Amino acid sequence: MEPFVYNGQPARVIFGSGTIQQLPAELDRLGLKRVVVLATPPQEPEARRLVEKLDGRAAGIYARATMHTPVEITEDALRVVLDLKADGLVAVGGGSTTGLAKAIALRTDLPQIVVPTTYAGSEMTPILGETRDGVKVTQSSPKVLPEVVIYDIDLTLSLPAAMSGTSGLNAIAHAVEALYARERNPVISLMATEAIGSLAAALPTIAVEPGNREARGKALYGAWLCGICLGSVGMALHHKLCHTLGGSFDLPHAETHAIVLPHALAYNAPAIPDVMGGLRNVLGTDDPAMALYDLAGKVGARRALADIGMPESGIELATDRALSNPYWNPRPLERDAIRGLIARAYAGEPPR
Ligand code: NAD
Repeated sequence: MEPFVYNGQPARVIFGSGTIQQLPAELDRLGLKRVVVLATPPQEPEARRLVEKLDGRAAGIYARATMHTPVEITEDALRVVLDLKADGLVAVGGGSTTGLAKAIALRTDLPQIVVPTTYAGSEMTPILGETRDGVKVTQSSPKVLPEVVIYDIDLTLSLPAAMSGTSGLNAIAHAVEALYARERNPVISLMATEAIGSLAAALPTIAVEPGNREARGKALYGAWLCGICLGSVGMALHHKLCHTLGGSFDLPHAETHAIVLPHALAYNAPAIPDVMGGLRNVLGTDDPAMALYDLAGKVGARRALADIGMPESGIELATDRALSNPYWNPRPLERDAIRGLIARAYAGEPPR
């Protein structure tokens, strides 16, 4: 067997349907009496419902979380948290809300309970990306890891079908890249394979029946495992491309991942025959990259970067930027092939 290093991240995870009822007990376990509940503006009603369950243990709500964790919002939230003399944070929402909780925790060391309602997986990672003056800077610190994560399947039922599909593909991307990460190891590969199978089975059902609890449970379980993958091993070409494309053209996070993933996998395929074998098994197909392209179609995700706001002139720029800071990838970065990959993703063509 190949030697390996496995870094486990500490986490207390509560998973199931109706698990949000356990939030008061979790606050008691941590000795928290004055938490601030964080949310995005559209999820403020969800935050209010949580506060009602907390029997006076909530000091207030801050419902201005937004994409890419802008430092101005974090500083505004920090003022509220300090004014209210909060002793902890409860984040209910997707990666944007979790990002805000992590950014506050980084500055205050306040304990966090995160209640994820998308499949982004940020709650399982020590990674925080913050935007200052339009520039996103990513750092990794154990200080940002939540103390408790409560996965409640019921809270994901309201995630619109289209968003569920792209968010699920975003999660699958973490697991796919974990399979060929430089630090890959058998434990993470087990989780990644299980996660891909779970999400690939659940997402087409959710696309036509968003209220299907069985499928929602499978998807959330898969998303949790994908989050562990993202937090445990380094990512490669796919994540680098999405970061570059998202940052250069202000593209939506999950949709960009959904479009790029089949192309990034097809690019790496010749360098990772063992991983492709495993993916063939779990996806039940001879062509895993094509299967992911088809899955994007089945969940109603858009498949062309042109359709989500990337200008055609951006193909060269994205190629330059993708090649500018060398990083590890199983297949060396070849300019013409990378350009071809980006051009196909731009046009929405199948991967090859
Ligand atoms: P998001 O958190 O921005 O959510 C998208 C929208 O969906 C928001 O308006 C939100 O309120 C709404 N929403 C969320 N759950 C809902 C539900 N169940 N029902 C109805 N509406 C719901 O999107 P996201 O894709 O979860 O997160 C993206 C952000 O997370 C990006 O900024 C990304 O960089 C970050 N992220 C960070 C990491 C990390 O490890 N640091 C990992 C993944 C994503």
